[in-house]
Amino acid sequence: MLEAERISAKLGKFRPSLTLELKRLAQARREQGLPVYDFGLGETKGRLAPHIAEAAQRAYREGQTMYGDPAGMPELRAAVLDWLGVAGSYGIDNVVVTAGAKQSLFNIFLSVANPADCVLFDSAPWVSYQPLAVAAYAFPVMVLPEAGEATHLKVSARDLRRNLRLRPHAKLFLLNNPVNPTGQLYEARDVEELLAVCVEHRVYFVLDRLYWKLLFDGRSYAEPPIDAETRRWLVQVDGMSKNFRRTGGLRIGWSVAPEDLARAMANLQSHYTSGPSLPAQHAALAALRHPYDGELRENLERNRDLLLAGAAELPHVEVWPTPATFYSFWDVRGCFGRTTPTGEVLGSSDDVAGYLIREAGFITASGGAFLQDGYLRVSFAIPEEELRAGLAAAARALSALT
Ligand code: PMP
Repeated sequence: MLEAERISAKLGKFRPSLTLELKRLAQARREQGLPVYDFGLGETKGRLAPHIAEAAQRAYREGQTMYGDPAGMPELRAAVLDWLGVAGSYGIDNVVVTAGAKQSLFNIFLSVANPADCVLFDSAPWVSYQPLAVAAYAFPVMVLPEAGEATHLKVSARDLRRNLRLRPHAKLFLLNNPVNPTGQLYEARDVEELLAVCVEHRVYFVLDRLYWKLLFDGRSYAEPPIDAETRRWLVQVDGMSKNFRRTGGLRIGWSVAPEDLARAMANLQSHYTSGPSLPAQHAALAALRHPYDGELRENLERNRDLLLAGAAELPHVEVWPTPATFYSFWDVRGCFGRTTPTGEVLGSSDDVAGYLIREAGFITASGGAFLQDGYLRVSFAIPEEELRAGLAAAARALSALT
């Protein structure tokens, strides 16, 4: 075996997940005593709700640690249906509980795509969509909006139809709503039309709704219409990682799918994870059964206002409106061609992100990771003081460009 063959051709090209890399970078700077303003985070801080912690502790105390149902605890699957408000349309056999939403996505790709089948993503796909698709031997394709930036990179039914005509081997369209990284939100009509195009073309409409509780200015979530026809093609992915504080590490997600697909995914899972950790499932059950606390959303909305007000003053940067999530999306192409105090000419999002880290300790996620060079993703799920100080540091660094 050649050295180059020790790792498979497809995995050999993988890079570690961006957010994990950013965590490492922030830690390295802290260890050197350098300032860090961590706007790169993909999770919320704060305190884990006591009822969630207690449920996991109780599960350990009571020895709820034997093998469980590979598709997830039946009580949790029922709670998921209530959480999503779809108990009238689905039963627990439609729900598969997974180790985070990532595993739900991987289950879906593995279960529906034959080698080289296409899976279609929206135009700023979240970092792990591509690697997961490739690992499942599927062929990832980005649907680019004709209207481009006029719609803040949101894909229309027309865009999707155009792509599906070109891709007879497309198996699914994956829509993230609200969108990580752009913070944009598709309205009810957009979702309905995109779903209708999928039904018409007999491809799955996979809706990743991981941030669906984090909507601002009184907006409500655009639920996909469920009827006899759409039900056959609609798959919803969700989980514990974003809508609660400090719960990404529980590693609990779920999908709600038509019976045949849910069965295929549960079968698959029975051979590789046997379902997620039971104490973590108990923690998730307690979270879903508890009335939802709007405190996180309110706090993020205040941070969003602060960030947008501060960022409007930054030179060379255009900030997009942010109706949802905890990400602000910055167009930094105004920095391209400009020179840093050390003589480096900035020419990509990676350059700008790298400069802001080195010069100001201002950590962001480069748009390059989302296949959108020209932008930065700026998380505002951080304490208010850090947010203010970070913006001031970023303003100084950006002003120093010539
Ligand atoms: N989808 C999106 C849009 C995400 O942002 C993330 C996590 N950052 C995931 C899926 C994966 O979620 P989990 O951590 O629950 O696996």
